[in-house]
Amino acid sequence: MSSYLVRNARPYGGDPVDLAIENDRIASLVSTGATAATYSTAEVIDADGAILLPGLVDLHTHLREPGREDAETVESGTQAAALGGFTAVHAMANTDPVADTAGVVEQVWRLGREAGYCDVYPVGAVTVGLAGQQLAELGAMADSAARVRVFSDDGKCVSDAVMMRRALEYVKAFDGVIAQHAQEPRLTEEAQMNEGELSGRLGLRGWPAVAEEAIIARDCLLAAHVGSRLHVCHVSTAGSVEIIRWAKSEGWNVTAEVTPHHLLLTDDLAATYDPIYKVNPPLRTAADVEAVRGALGDGTIDIVATDHAPHPHEDKDCEWAAAAFGMLGLETALSVVQHTMVDTGVLDWAAVAERLSARPAQIGHVSGHGRPIAEGEPANLVLYDPTVTRIVDAAETASLSRNNPYRGMELPGRVLATFLRGKPTVLDGKVQ
Ligand SMILES: [Zn+2]
Repeated sequence: MSSYLVRNARPYGGDPVDLAIENDRIASLVSTGATAATYSTAEVIDADGAILLPGLVDLHTHLREPGREDAETVESGTQAAALGGFTAVHAMANTDPVADTAGVVEQVWRLGREAGYCDVYPVGAVTVGLAGQQLAELGAMADSAARVRVFSDDGKCVSDAVMMRRALEYVKAFDGVIAQHAQEPRLTEEAQMNEGELSGRLGLRGWPAVAEEAIIARDCLLAAHVGSRLHVCHVSTAGSVEIIRWAKSEGWNVTAEVTPHHLLLTDDLAATYDPIYKVNPPLRTAADVEAVRGALGDGTIDIVATDHAPHPHEDKDCEWAAAAFGMLGLETALSVVQHTMVDTGVLDWAAVAERLSARPAQIGHVSGHGRPIAEGEPANLVLYDPTVTRIVDAAETASLSRNNPYRGMELPGRVLATFLRGKPTVLDGKVQ
């Protein structure tokens, strides 16, 4: 039997408590100073007033295994997740082979179990090979040991309206959800960065906001028409926010995510021609950043999801047009959310727990995660110190990749400890 006593931790940033963990559960929760002697044999962790949150849940992670183990593996990616305070991640399907069969999703699920740092929930592909031509074995993936509930061709858009309609209809049978990467392909051929005055000046092909917004509008209408569940990945524009606001006002079953990088970074970084800032959808304008922050604040955007996208240096240390899209995000997510949403007074810590743990767990139908901090609940927890600041060092990471867009920036906060079912995966900021 393992037991821990976490002293002087503040659940959701509130009053300090002492929390006893026995095996995989929270055994007791009492005001600091009133701990019963029955836990005197436990290993004591002094939280020193740090914030206690339910373990974070990421609905959008690229773990790259199978196929690109030079960029990331399930083991390295889930270590990075644990360092970021996550206890569950959804692994996107754009691996090699693509996660479009029960066999592949079970392999990814099993690798997550074996590594043991974080629960891994594979996302199933919507179409075979992400090719957009033929519906993948959605039912077989849902019935597999991995019990897939989230389906996405992420990296590519399910651009064919008939295919999208069929997928939305199909997943209703097991209350699945289609997570759409909203990118109208014809409007974004060879697109390199946000379309605007700057893309013209830099001579880089533009990725217009309308290419995202047109797909989101269509998919909201389709989801309403067939009475199914749509999740919009990485919302990046002010116009997308308005469309989602409208769909929700109609009572449609639409949810949405924003990435940490779209909450903080803007398209003017492309002027450096440094491909570290190349991502899909692209970094947008300051007005878009303001809109997605407001939408995350008022709940129009439900959750933060990282879109952690590791790439080896040869795919990033090259000229902009040749570089891969994507940036790391797991280890910095909570710091970026603190910086953009908490320190600015938009969200309190209870709202952060809602948007990074409870809601993503609900959308992904993940049980045992995103639960309240209370006696008898699973001990999936993160201890976070918001009072420190750090200069981000790209070399300090569990990821096999280094494409960290925050390198050299000062960000607040540090994950002190992460518990997965009562077992520390991170202690003193180090992987266990
Ligand atoms: Zn995507």
